[in-house]
Amino acid sequence: MTDLTSLTLAEARDGLRTKAFSARDLAEAHIKAVEAARPLNAFIVETPEKALAGAAEADRRFAAGTARRLEGLPLGIKDLFCTRDVQATAGSHILEGFKPIYESTVTQNLWDAGATMLGKLNMDEFAMGSSNETSYFKPVINPWRARGSNKDLVPGGSSGGSSAAVAARLCLGATGTDTGGSIRQPAAVTGIAGIKPTYGRCSRWGIVAFASSLDQAGPMARTVRDCAILLREMASHDPKDSTSVDIPVPDYEAAMTGDIRGLRVGVPKEYRLDGMPDEIEKLWADGIAWLKAAGATIVDVSLPHTKYALPAYYIVAPAEASSNLARYDGVRFGHRASGPKDIVGLYERSRAEGFGREVQRRIMIGTYVLSAGYYDAYYIKAQKVRTLIARDFDEAFGVCDVLLTPTAPGPAFGIGDKSDDPIAMYLNDVFTVTVNLAGLPGISVPAGLNAEGLPLGLQLIGKAFDEATLFRAGGVLEAAAPKTPAPGRWW
Ligand code: GLN
Repeated sequence: MTDLTSLTLAEARDGLRTKAFSARDLAEAHIKAVEAARPLNAFIVETPEKALAGAAEADRRFAAGTARRLEGLPLGIKDLFCTRDVQATAGSHILEGFKPIYESTVTQNLWDAGATMLGKLNMDEFAMGSSNETSYFKPVINPWRARGSNKDLVPGGSSGGSSAAVAARLCLGATGTDTGGSIRQPAAVTGIAGIKPTYGRCSRWGIVAFASSLDQAGPMARTVRDCAILLREMASHDPKDSTSVDIPVPDYEAAMTGDIRGLRVGVPKEYRLDGMPDEIEKLWADGIAWLKAAGATIVDVSLPHTKYALPAYYIVAPAEASSNLARYDGVRFGHRASGPKDIVGLYERSRAEGFGREVQRRIMIGTYVLSAGYYDAYYIKAQKVRTLIARDFDEAFGVCDVLLTPTAPGPAFGIGDKSDDPIAMYLNDVFTVTVNLAGLPGISVPAGLNAEGLPLGLQLIGKAFDEATLFRAGGVLEAAAPKTPAPGRWW
């Protein structure tokens, strides 16, 4: 039998259906891989007992002919999702030991479709970061290394446990969340696929909030098809989240016809940045050529407010975070400082001890931009910029159907290389944050390796609720690009 962890999610699904192997075989192979990969630090909590119990149920259902669409497929879950009776920390000390008494809607949807859980995946604290180095539970190591090098690289962030686990073949797919790029950038630098759906496509209920007007859940997996299969189950209208949208969820896998003849692909000139590495320029040019060769029409478009996106994001996101994180007060749940003098001391010390430096920085920035006297100058201004950015996209989509850009400005960088320089770290999001500000869907597609043997990704941006076109075009792009192999195993 081939190594079951090397199958794509679609192949594993089909193999279970034809009884080429059992759900138990599949679960055991992945549990072993998770154990062997502990040096990567991708999981905060492992739940092999859940994976095995789910596999037993799956094998019963396959025998009875009542298997569901994701029956018996083992997944990893980002630790931002509440999972009933299983610790959910958001990568933070302040939530260490917190076991939710309810399940997030997205994970419940996955379990209802028959998927099983291997464990909770490491992440940047409260999803703030681009490298997974802000996790209280220590950084995740990228399974990829530059050719001939032993240097540890970051797996991207904030969904870095998800990207590393999927790339290292520890799970068939994973959940991620994306507030400014946290699904797409880690997917790109680990050679996998990931989609941030339209705002409102997935319910945010039971996902620890970072910036509520930007946060969206989405799947990360080794192929575009696998993401299509997972998103169909994750997406739903949910009365418990008033921002989730009540429109039918299409069969995204069926939308992957392989035919993009006549598709109009916009190339936004403002994404050509000064000092952009040559390999990213070349990757983008290759992507344009691949789509053109498949029958797409290439159109030059302009998104003139792009340069204001990053500054606007780093006002809006911390503002919302400072408000969302006010609930961690040491009283209701999570870390509580011992022996405070009074209630104010309890709040102050619990928060000072419980939150890491990056989270504290964001709370301070957010509180500042929301404070009387600065609200108009910063927060309101940033909201206006946001409207202009959304308008840019509306105009561009008058002449094209999707946009093609690089996902990230470079390949995976070294652990520690950018952790002392918040601005350098924030620049990782330069191609991804615009999409969150406008609420649009964006997918990162694996596009091969650079000269050093590290993965790079291309991003397609779509119209609101047109994920189907992103899967169709993304599948074509993925097939045209050099195939990304599995990372060489060193752990
Ligand atoms: N890297 C960005 C940030 O630090 C985006 C994070 C995210 O999408 N959750 O805010």
